[in-house]
Amino acid sequence: MSKQLLFIPGPVTVAEPVLAAMGKPMIDHRGPEFKVLLESISRKLKPVFGTSGDVVILGSSGTGGLEAAMTNMFAPGEKVLCCPVGVFGDRFAEIARTWGVEVEVLPTAWGHGVDAQALKARLDADTKREIKGVILTHNETSTGVQNPMGPLADAIRAHGALVLVDSVSGLAASEFTMDAWGFDVVVAASQKALGVPPGISMVAISPRAWEKMATANAPRYYFDLRKAREFAAIGQTPATPPVSQCFAMDVALDRYAETGPANVWARHQRYTDGIIAAAETLGLELFAQPGVRSVTVTAIKVPAGIDGDAIRKTMRVERGYVLGGGQARLAGTIVRIGTMGDISQTDVLGMLGAFEMELLGAGLKIQVGSGVQAALRVFLEASQPSAA
Ligand code: PMP
Repeated sequence: MSKQLLFIPGPVTVAEPVLAAMGKPMIDHRGPEFKVLLESISRKLKPVFGTSGDVVILGSSGTGGLEAAMTNMFAPGEKVLCCPVGVFGDRFAEIARTWGVEVEVLPTAWGHGVDAQALKARLDADTKREIKGVILTHNETSTGVQNPMGPLADAIRAHGALVLVDSVSGLAASEFTMDAWGFDVVVAASQKALGVPPGISMVAISPRAWEKMATANAPRYYFDLRKAREFAAIGQTPATPPVSQCFAMDVALDRYAETGPANVWARHQRYTDGIIAAAETLGLELFAQPGVRSVTVTAIKVPAGIDGDAIRKTMRVERGYVLGGGQARLAGTIVRIGTMGDISQTDVLGMLGAFEMELLGAGLKIQVGSGVQAALRVFLEASQPSAA
């Protein structure tokens, strides 16, 4: 099968007009057209983050944005409270340790979200204000968990610690209100819910964070956010930016606004609801607990005796649907289905049909078609006009 639809949680299937924008001729990245482009992107990104503050872009994947956030905000020896709920939260903590930032971990069992009360209790106990920052993951791609950001923001507020958030696989797929939640640095990436090819990390920065950065002295060069801000003021980036991705990002942001954010959020929720309904109808278990399930990636446990990686391989090679597998200690135990990118309801139904065929072929006793039907019912209900 030469055609592939990406149901991995990024990079995602990119819409044709966004891809086409990548083919535009190169421009001078220190010239007037790029200035207009950069200002346009930064302006349009602000409402996506829910901020009136600055949003800078970096030529990197999401991990570069995470590294920039950590190294610009905290100095070696300062203490942060990391709240990982999976692989990517662990990565954020690892970045901190690599730079000599002291890390305390608030543990959470995988599949769960951070417990706001436990977070508040830990911060309340920090009467000497030794904890300078709280490190959160909005959407944990490895476990399919979306943390309850409002309650977590409430739990942190009284303490006053700076808050860094990895929203690489969350931003733009559901409402995000950085300013209202009082977050200080929020990191996202192009290849996720905004549906752009990889290459840009977007970093939103609060006024309080800029103040802190003015005094932070950890070594940094390429990922110097203050330098990024200085250059943004003249419509440039400190080093050569990924110009083609910038063209694509501008088109993707226009499409996001034209579709309407609420419709984009509803689409992610609906696709997720459809996939969850299908999984449950087929008797499959979900990895993430109810109430904290991600709208961008659904993690489904592979039933005992079934080889999930073999199913994913046949899905990709013979049916053209690419699903994600488990990472780190979840390798081989879950299948992750992404809902971001340019996919339609009928793409989702087709993918679920192929998944059922593979499960059946692997010997699982399922009622064929029942998963697809459950998802179809979710989609049809959502398309009914609501009763007045
Ligand atoms: N954080 C999260 C939540 C992610 O999903 C990812 C990518 N899957 C990253 C960080 C790392 O981003 P990148 O691969 O773009 O460096």
